[in-house]
Formats: sequence, structure tokens, C-alpha cells
Amino acid sequence: MPLLHCLAVDVVIDGNSLSGIVTESKSGRQAILAKRVIDATGDAEIAFRAGAPCRKTPKDEVMGVTVNFSCAGVDRQRFLDYVRQSRPTYGDWGKSWQMETTGKEDHLFSTYLEEPFNRARSEGLIPEHLTGIGGTWGTLTEAGEATNLNMVYMTGYDCTDVWDLTRAEIEGRRQPCWPSKP
Ligand SMILES: Cc1cc2nc3c(=O)[nH]c(=O)nc-3n(C[C@H](O)[C@H](O)[C@H](O)COP(=O)(O)OP(=O)(O)OC[C@H]3O[C@@H](n4cnc5c(N)ncnc54)[C@H](O)[C@@H]3O)c2cc1C
Repeated sequence: MPLLHCLAVDVVIDGNSLSGIVTESKSGRQAILAKRVIDATGDAEIAFRAGAPCRKTPKDEVMGVTVNFSCAGVDRQRFLDYVRQSRPTYGDWGKSWQMETTGKEDHLFSTYLEEPFNRARSEGLIPEHLTGIGGTWGTLTEAGEATNLNMVYMTGYDCTDVWDLTRAEIEGRRQPCWPSKP
């Protein structure tokens, strides 16, 4: 049975082999022993804690991070009219982001938005230095809620450092709320 809402915080080493993990949760600190441990943490966290050789890309070279968000109050018809008229494609991504494709997807429709943010930047609605604003939207409900906006891209954060994660979380929530000019 899966065990949710707990964090692996240490490893159990038996001689030369990994024989389990130590977890922290609302139930306290516990050990889970296993014949095999599969590390699916995304950051090789178990492998690292077990002392396996690991490599980390320097902070100024790692991929940027995103805080996805949603927003309400979108004029649905106006937004969809804009999307129909601008016909964004996967090819548009390559205009500002470092991206390589084989080219066969370039003409396909993508929920990509960039031009309105460039315009907002040139009109002073968002500051010049926020160049990482732009990206994709998920769904648009009948009530005008745009969800899963993957539109804040920030570089220079190490996601294995809890202080960097904290700073990125705060900054990523701040950027979409930038106040308009009075
Ligand atoms: C905003 C965003 C958009 C993306 N868009 C795309 C895209 O369009 N196409 C694409 O291919 N990829 C995309 N990616 C990348 C993709 O999501 C990741 O490459 C993929 O999710 C990695 O999968 P994973 O299973 O290795 O790790 P993850 O999906 O990161 O899963 C790791 C899990 O382990 C848990 N975990 C970590 N440490 C511990 C621990 N110590 N104890 C317990 N649990 C732990 C985490 O909570 C998480 O649930 C995107 C990523 C982001 C953030």
C-alpha cells in the first residue's frame, strides 16, 4: 500500500547496500525497510543521501523555475478572439526561449502567450526587467477563470536548496501580481 504525506529524510545502509529509508511525517520518524529502493524524487535525493556519486549543474546554468498560477475575471470572448486572431503555435516558443525542435511541430496550435506581455512591458505596465513573463495557459472556464498559467520563468535558483526554493516561491507569486500603473 502506498504511504502518502511523508518525506524521505535519510537512508538505512546495511554494509554496502541500501536497505531502506527513514521518513518524517505527522506520525513521526519511521523507517521503511525494502529489498529494493527506487529513487523517484526527481532530484536523486535518496541516491545523494546514500552517498552515490551525483553531479549538480551550477546554479547560474540550471533550468529556470516556474510558479504556476490561475486567475479569474478574464473576458472570455475577448481572450478567445485574441487567440483566434493571433494563432499561436509551438514555433512561437523559439522566438524568446532557447528551444530546439525537429520543426514538424512548429505549425501546431499552442496555448502560448507572449506578445501581450511584451506590449505590457513596453507600455510600462510590467517592469522592463521581468523578461521571463510569458508562456502557456491551461484551460479557460465559462466563468472566465484561466487555470494552470505557466507564465513566470525565473532563473538562478537551486531547487535542492530550501532557501532558494523559498525565495523562488515568494518571487514567483509576486510577479503575476505586479500592480498596473495608476
Ligand atoms: C511548470 C512546469 C512545466 C513543465 N512542463 C513540461 C512539459 O511541458 N513537458 C515536459 O516534458 N516536461 C515538463 N516539465 C518537466 C517535468 O514536469 C519533469 O521533468 C517531470 O515531472 C520529472 O518527473 P519525475 O517523476 O522525475 O519527478 P517529479 O515529477 O518531480 O516527482 C518527484 C516526486 O517526488 C516527491 N519527492 C521529492 N523528494 C521527496 C522526498 N525526500 N520524500 C518524499 N517525496 C519526495 C515530490 O514531491 C514529487 O511528487 C515541467 C515542469 C514544470 C515545473
